[in-house]
Amino acid sequence: MKAAQIPKPGADFEIVEREIPKPGAGQVRVKVQACGVCHSDLFTKEGVWPGIQYPRVPGHEVAGVIDEVGAGVSDWKQGERAGVGWHGGHDGTCVACRRGDFRNCKNMKISGISYDGGYQQYMVAPVEALTRIPETLSDVEAAPLLCAGITTYNALRHSGAMPGDLVAVLGVGGLGHLGIQFASKFGYKVAAVGRGPESAALAKKLGASVYIDSKATNAAGELQKLGGAQVILATAPSSKAMSELIDGLGPNGTLMVIGATFDPIEVTPPQLIFGSRRIQGWAAGTPADSEDTLHFSQLSGVRPMIETYPLENAAEAYARMMSGKAQFRVVLTM
Ligand SMILES: [Zn+2]
Ligand SMILES: [Zn+2]
Repeated sequence: MKAAQIPKPGADFEIVEREIPKPGAGQVRVKVQACGVCHSDLFTKEGVWPGIQYPRVPGHEVAGVIDEVGAGVSDWKQGERAGVGWHGGHDGTCVACRRGDFRNCKNMKISGISYDGGYQQYMVAPVEALTRIPETLSDVEAAPLLCAGITTYNALRHSGAMPGDLVAVLGVGGLGHLGIQFASKFGYKVAAVGRGPESAALAKKLGASVYIDSKATNAAGELQKLGGAQVILATAPSSKAMSELIDGLGPNGTLMVIGATFDPIEVTPPQLIFGSRRIQGWAAGTPADSEDTLHFSQLSGVRPMIETYPLENAAEAYARMMSGKAQFRVVLTM
């Protein structure tokens, strides 16, 4: 089989022939049909996540079909469609797991980081990482929903915003174009915040009722004119843009951070104290959350906008994603 692997931290992709892997006990083998290319794949590409063993195959937006089950697997069958997202497995025994908080498992595995992910024709995954895919979603549609989709969907539904509340989505990109759709379908009043006028028409088409150009106006001030945001879903990987928007929060408002970048967010204590505002982060969710995301997308018509590339062109696909110019999620097909 073909795999696109990273031989060592910071190195380029190489397309290699590998033996088709065998699933062990409690695992299945997935014949990969599509795998999304996510900004967080840079953790594997650049080796900035601790403890990665190389060579490593990235990919945590995997949609495919189970083609072999390992020993002791009874609830998944050969031929069944299955997805694998960021949540690549949990131990079931740590304190967080014993509290049912699998999302914060101390020994959580991440597909494409802890083990080889979906940039290959076949991958092996533990059963607790598997998501069922509804029939009406194609593989290339389902794949980006397993990280970009679940992250925006789950962050929003846990944000405390209620129907009718003003929710700002910072960034109209890979995460943002899904965040706007989910926020609109959840019944929020959606203000999309982007840099420049180009994204205005698209943001409105996706469900935003207001578009704020942060280059041309003071975006935080514009949000205050609308009463202040109950939630700002910060999708753009820019700590500077997030910092500039904090003053756009209304009383008890939350800056929900999902765009992963390494620069510090700057905020003064009074910005948080007066108005009882908070800053919170959110990472993906469990496979059950992924199934909720897929079902809601099926129900409401939320779909990712995608560009597809063949697996052989993984390097080009990754570069396209990193350029920030993709419209909007890049997906590899096998
Ligand atoms: Zn991701
Ligand atoms: Zn655990």
